[in-house]
Amino acid sequence: MIDLRSDTVTLPCDAMRQAMLVAPVGDDVYGDDPSVNQLEEYAADLAGFEAALFTSSGTQANLLALMSHCQRGDEYLCGQQAHNYKFEGGGAAVLGSIQPQPVNNQADGTINLSELASYIKPDDFHFAQTRLLSLENTIGGKVLPQRYLADAQAFAFEHNLKIHLDGARVFNAAVAQNLPLSAISQHFDSLTICLSKGLGAPVGSLLIGDEALINKARRWRKMLGGGMRQAGMLAAAGQFALENNVERLAEDHDNAAYLAQQLADVPGFNVDSAQVQTNMVYATLENINPVQLQSHLQQHGVMISAAKTLRLVTHLNVSRSDVDTFINAVKKFVSQ
Ligand SMILES: *Cc1c(COP(=O)(O)O)cnc(C)c1O
Repeated sequence: MIDLRSDTVTLPCDAMRQAMLVAPVGDDVYGDDPSVNQLEEYAADLAGFEAALFTSSGTQANLLALMSHCQRGDEYLCGQQAHNYKFEGGGAAVLGSIQPQPVNNQADGTINLSELASYIKPDDFHFAQTRLLSLENTIGGKVLPQRYLADAQAFAFEHNLKIHLDGARVFNAAVAQNLPLSAISQHFDSLTICLSKGLGAPVGSLLIGDEALINKARRWRKMLGGGMRQAGMLAAAGQFALENNVERLAEDHDNAAYLAQQLADVPGFNVDSAQVQTNMVYATLENINPVQLQSHLQQHGVMISAAKTLRLVTHLNVSRSDVDTFINAVKKFVSQ
């Protein structure tokens, strides 16, 4: 099957599986797993930070970041569309007693800084204490402009806030701009990275920050049941992903641009090709039933999520000819 639902569906390749098989391991709760230690040091170095923590998921890594920056009764500012507000089960509120203050994202994924300023609470006992600004890059496949990151960092500093990046797909942003990770991460006090999306590892994320933050996060991770023992087999997959699967994200971006361009010519599919910056294409359907389209595509070997606005995601298990297969199946659907 050609699976365009998400880049989370990527499968570990043979070489990655081999790296997992031969990985030296130990008990990571004792700090004894050489493969986990190597991955954490490697990722911290790449981002230009002191330390990193290997986690079971991006959701866990974001929660640890929020709980380590904020205390009970504090507040974080984030986008209305932020994953760590909308799609993580309200974890910061439920488990951290941290109040989210979502603010509208603009069309390019940024949050207007003067609007953000109006949401910072005054120092008055009526209010939660605003501690943190959390941004996401890429967001909905869009790359936040570097200039904006610099402005947001200055804004956070000026208002005495910490600034966190949900960088689940930060390498897509880096590759799209031909920048090293550090050019993006330098604007933040912490960031999270998903190894299990476009990078192709089966499991795992990282939280990256300074030593003090990572020490706090390590305590929360244990409390949340995230202390893993011989986790090196998973860390080895992440290490392989960082060493081998970053540059190739450019192929996914090229395939997404190609897909958008082809789909824009099909009647009933509204695609703004100019908005495709990384590996995601959004197509709004006109007079097409999404469920019927989905089942037609399924019969032609292609999986999508049915919605009025389709999100189609390219990744390392989708080739250029897979995109052609998808486009041909769509054309067949429209012509029948
Ligand atoms: C997927 C994703 C996460 C969470 O990662 P999981 O590993 O699925 O928990 C966080 N933020 C963003 C932007 C994501 O896309």
